[in-house]
Amino acid sequence: MTVNVLLLGGTAEGRALAGLLAAEPGVRVITSLAGRVSDPILPDGEVRIGGFGGPAGLAEWLRANDIHAVVDATHPFAVAMTGSAARAGRDTGVPVLRLQRPGWVAGTGDRWLRVPTLIAAANALDTAGDGGSGLGERVLLTTGRQGLAAFAPLDTHWFLVRSVNPPDPPVPVRMVTLLDRGPFTVDGELALMREHRIQVVVTKDSGGPMAAAKLAAARELGLVVVMVDRPDQPEVATVSDVAEVVAWVRQVR
Ligand code: NAP
Repeated sequence: MTVNVLLLGGTAEGRALAGLLAAEPGVRVITSLAGRVSDPILPDGEVRIGGFGGPAGLAEWLRANDIHAVVDATHPFAVAMTGSAARAGRDTGVPVLRLQRPGWVAGTGDRWLRVPTLIAAANALDTAGDGGSGLGERVLLTTGRQGLAAFAPLDTHWFLVRSVNPPDPPVPVRMVTLLDRGPFTVDGELALMREHRIQVVVTKDSGGPMAAAKLAAARELGLVVVMVDRPDQPEVATVSDVAEVVAWVRQVR
């Protein structure tokens, strides 16, 4: 029997996993992408693009496409999709496994300020630091183009916004956009931060090696990093290694 796997993607590890599953005998893998990026890097195997229409739409899609297993390899901040997968799995009886990279951990020399949300990150830029005077005016913002509204009210700060596609309004008034998708190197990040006289870096706790170079560069330059914590996720069986997912798919058979 062929095992039909729906892989909810949009991450580098999702792509790597698709490559492994596409090469696995007796497995048919269909990667699903949200369609946020105009020219996504496509994984091996089949690909479908666009939302399902919430948990009910996904449940219907699983049944219609005779899916035997769902792997949720979405980004740690993609809470709606993860919630939808957990719910649709419960409703259909299709097993769901989450692949999630571990979060980043501060090391010696890191100056991180952990905050719970993007709004809290914007507030921290304005009010944290010595005597509540703020953390610095020139900010490298790597939180993705969808979260910029939280920073739009900060008209006293200057933002270098790095994202894959151009951001939509509302955005900060004083902002320069850098279209880039990485992976990035420490040398490249150091050069970027020096060139733009960056004083503070804002990032989500995405985890993983692809986006970690900015953290090493900030450490070397002694910059504060405002680190947005991961949102709460539903209780779903979770692994952090693609090989564990392959082993799991084999036993679904
Ligand atoms: P989200 O808020 O959890 O998802 C919003 C809606 O987009 C979902 O309810 C679903 O629509 C649709 N969707 C999300 N991921 C999908 C997928 N892989 N396949 C089909 N539909 C999907 O997600 P998000 O934060 O906007 O992220 C969207 C995509 O970008 C995800 O694939 C994620 O892995 C990737 N990504 C996100 C971030 C981030 O910081 N959030 C960073 C890097 C990559 P329906 O309800 O209609 O099914």
